Amino acid sequence: MLNKLKSFFESRCPTCNELLTCDNTNLHLIKICSHGHYKEETYHSLGVKIVYDGTSNLDQS
Ligand SMILES: [Zn+2]
Repeated sequence: MLNKLKSFFESRCPTCNELLTCDNTNLHLIKICSHGHYKEETYHSLGVKIVYDGTSNLDQS
């Protein structure tokens, strides 16, 4: 159940749940929240993935 949720959220902002904007080239893949909550950079040539998550997993319940 949790794993399914995780993959579902993969291309959505974990904070505002909006679809992330993708910038995909043959060098890198960048997914970014238009509100600046979340940013994910993947560099294919380096095999590196960098995630900037500004939410600090805040519990909003
Ligand atoms: Zn967001």
